[in-house]
Amino acid sequence: MNTSKVISRRSNLVLISVLITIIIIIFSTVSFLYVVNDIQKLTNFINSIGSIRGGIQRVTKLYLLNQDIKESVKMIDETNFILSDFVNSKTGVFNSNDKVEISNLLQSWTEYKEILKNNQKDRILNSSENLWKLSNIVVNKIEIKTHNHIALQYLFLFLLFAIVCILGLVSFFIKKVVQENIEKKASHDQLTNLLNRNYLHQIYNVKLSDSLRKSSFLAVLMCDIDHFKYVNDTFGHDVGDKVLKRIAEIMVENTRENDAIFRYGGEEFLILVSFTEIPQLIQYAERLRSRVESTEIIEHKITISVGVSLIDDKQELKQHILRADTALYKAKQAGRNRVIVNELNLTTAST
Ligand code: GH3
Ligand code: MG
Ligand code: MG
Repeated sequence: MNTSKVISRRSNLVLISVLITIIIIIFSTVSFLYVVNDIQKLTNFINSIGSIRGGIQRVTKLYLLNQDIKESVKMIDETNFILSDFVNSKTGVFNSNDKVEISNLLQSWTEYKEILKNNQKDRILNSSENLWKLSNIVVNKIEIKTHNHIALQYLFLFLLFAIVCILGLVSFFIKKVVQENIEKKASHDQLTNLLNRNYLHQIYNVKLSDSLRKSSFLAVLMCDIDHFKYVNDTFGHDVGDKVLKRIAEIMVENTRENDAIFRYGGEEFLILVSFTEIPQLIQYAERLRSRVESTEIIEHKITISVGVSLIDDKQELKQHILRADTALYKAKQAGRNRVIVNELNLTTAST
């Protein structure tokens, strides 16, 4: 996949995350406001029923004391009116059971008023007690409901907070992973997973100053597969790809973690390696060559030629690559499957 595709995929992911976040936040906020609104209704309701509960006792007391009860009855009637409004509204706060209980309470109040009107003294105490009990049951029930709603309110708040945190973390990781992916794709070859040429100069400069600091030297190794065209032509391009991949693995297996291996061209690999003694470097290049030769990659023997240029700090990378290329050309001319160090005119080859 190329970089522009990765970038457009990242934009899509970010867009989707933003949309999901907005939807979740809107949903949670609406639900939260809905619950807050319900709590408000329930609180008003408890206050109304509470005033009825108190009002009934007051009416009964005034009646028994032969005092005027009109004002108190009016007050309860008004509150009842609010209650019937609650019950008849399409709010989801009350279920059908609650509505039956509230209607019973309202009905009992109407009956109680009849009893008072008809002066049925023998029934007054019983009825007022019954009315008080009914209102008490409704108050307790609505109180429990209110507590549940408050718990729900906290749950929504917690969910909102948790979702925002999770989405924040997820978008942070998506961004990190996609960014790493883009960087890797920009700097690595897809087939072999080795570095590509994009960062060669940058890495060269870092390695050069590293080796100057450590009083070691840098070398450029240019490795090229011998008669690779023949492999492609005889076994097919896919087998050629398999060979390229396997050779890249052999290179990684036989170099140090600090060495930078690039897929420089089609079937050319460039290695930047630091060393302290020339024999050590030659041994290193020779080991690569012989490991490729001795590995059975396909039924046809695969070999590489290696041209080496020793880097001194006064020279540009371009010149070193040219010198490594020259050494590689000499290795090819000399019969392939060998290592040639440019500066030393030194050759190693399989016996
Ligand atoms: P020499 O020993 O002189 O290097 O000969 P050669 O056949 O290896 O050299 P040449 O430059 O003539 O051929 C290189 C071939 O590598 C040609 C090209 O088709 C093939 N090649 C380049 N990149 C790839 C790739 O990614 N996959 C495959 N399968 N082949 C590739
Ligand atoms: Mg080549
Ligand atoms: Mg070749």
